[in-house]
Amino acid sequence: MNEQAKKARDIIVNYKGRPLRIMEVCGTHTHEIFKLGLRKLLPENVELISGPGCPVCVTPVGFIDEAIWLALEKGCVITTFGDLIRVPGTEMSLAGARAKGAVVRPVYSPLDAVEMARQNPDEQIVFLAVGFETTTPSACLAAETAKKEGLTNFSLLTANKTMPNAYAALEGSADAFLYPGHVNAITGTSICEDLKDKGVSGVIAGFTASELLTALAVILKNAEKDEPFFVNCYPRVVKPEGNPPAQKLIEKVMEPCDTEWRGLGVIPMSGMKLRDEYADFDARKKYAMPEIKGRPNPACRCGEVLQGKCKPCDCKVFGKVCTPEHPVGACMVSDEGACAAYYQYGGI
Ligand code: SF4
Repeated sequence: MNEQAKKARDIIVNYKGRPLRIMEVCGTHTHEIFKLGLRKLLPENVELISGPGCPVCVTPVGFIDEAIWLALEKGCVITTFGDLIRVPGTEMSLAGARAKGAVVRPVYSPLDAVEMARQNPDEQIVFLAVGFETTTPSACLAAETAKKEGLTNFSLLTANKTMPNAYAALEGSADAFLYPGHVNAITGTSICEDLKDKGVSGVIAGFTASELLTALAVILKNAEKDEPFFVNCYPRVVKPEGNPPAQKLIEKVMEPCDTEWRGLGVIPMSGMKLRDEYADFDARKKYAMPEIKGRPNPACRCGEVLQGKCKPCDCKVFGKVCTPEHPVGACMVSDEGACAAYYQYGGI
């Protein structure tokens, strides 16, 4: 442990200030904090709660139903990151749809799906574009590449999301946010500065033990002052201006829209959809998709978990009916899901 990390650890274990609820917005933070055993260092009056930063977890049930409709009704080949395949839809997951004839192929990036479209001109390839500011540029690049090449057998089913309005929707749920460093690497720090001006506190955190200890210690130190604060604790990666080329690409290909978040409902202007110039690559338009509304399993409390209103172990089916092998909700499926983290590391 380096000197900075030791100093941060000492600040954390000796904290005697007011009770604090800190929200890990990012699922990777949740998993890293568990894996590194950092929760055990926290005094009793400091609570870590999970937030809505896992892309798979916040993707609503209806999106899975839409993907299944494209596969079974339109015969499209669905390409997606692996996690999404096991997320339950209203009646089945994409894995279940396979048994009914759906073709679902995992890919590592949207450009892999574009390559699949090039190689298989007789197939209609649809990529499931989920995620935040971090992954949206690669979905935009895929649409841009397909447009340039004039591919007619590639499209995106979008559920891309942006964080600023989600933070507003979460107002009051935590005393401070542990902001997701990789999102801010794209957006820059102005979002967090704006939130501070509105009275919302938080720090941008990296992912190593030293970076996480430092971020938590900075929160505890600043909490003593009892006024809103923001500190970028991940300056080696997050620059104030973010990543301008990625921002420019997103701006060119997509535009903001209202979108549904699992558990949080529809948050105005918190999603991204393809601009009209890219309509040929928008699967909903291309296939004249009807409105499809999903119905979440009533036993699943993912929505409350994602807002920090309950812990995974408060859910009655956690670890019993709902396990990583047989997930009932998205938070148990994803590598970044809070329920999966609590299950894997024995969280309480
Ligand atoms: S334990 Fe399973 S059912 Fe309960 S909230 Fe988590 S994912 Fe949903």
